[in-house]
Amino acid sequence: MTHPHHHHATRAAWALTTARRHLDTAVAVETADRRDEARVWAAAGNLQAWRPIPGPTGRGGHGDPSGRTVVEFLEPEVRDGQLGRLATRTTATLAWLAAALTLPTTGDPLPTLTAAVPTLRPSTARELSLWLDEADERIRRRLALEPDRELLVGLACPRCSARQLWLHTSGPTYTRTVTCEAGTDGCLCTGPDCTCRMAVRAAGVRHIWPASAWPTTRRAA
Ligand SMILES: [Zn+2]
Ligand SMILES: [Zn+2]
Repeated sequence: MTHPHHHHATRAAWALTTARRHLDTAVAVETADRRDEARVWAAAGNLQAWRPIPGPTGRGGHGDPSGRTVVEFLEPEVRDGQLGRLATRTTATLAWLAAALTLPTTGDPLPTLTAAVPTLRPSTARELSLWLDEADERIRRRLALEPDRELLVGLACPRCSARQLWLHTSGPTYTRTVTCEAGTDGCLCTGPDCTCRMAVRAAGVRHIWPASAWPTTRRAA
């Protein structure tokens, strides 16, 4: 039986996987823009250098062939923009998390963290999901990206009866979960006597179920 903290960590990991993919695309656009801009500035700087030296004996002016060669082949240095720095910071945080959990730190740390979730203690999975959710929210806020989720129309939460059950669609089908998003503080489990029908009921956890637990989502699972 999967603990709800593990479900939350898996949900957060796949949401962040999608958010980072969008961020990578945005960084590529940003870098191309910045490179174009840097080329324009570099070219402008070179044009300045080509200005004919005033006076009747001026040499090394706009006809200088070596100057032209420099412009064509010298690629200006492009520093990371805001999105590039956000991507770097996110990866650094994930690498730090993987190292803190003594996971292998070669390659991209997020798939390593995602795969390790079932092996973590529930309390550790809870901490991890907080970090992952924060990173996901920061990227989505920056890119104006909505969460990857769908409202399960017509279905009510077995605990609070609100029709605010959302299917999280980021990851592969078998990883998908449903959460109750009722209320500003969320719909929280009250422990073993809670009527939420979670397989493991733990006080204080925001209600979350595997998607396969819901009739309309079982077909897709
Ligand atoms: Zn609820
Ligand atoms: Zn509950």
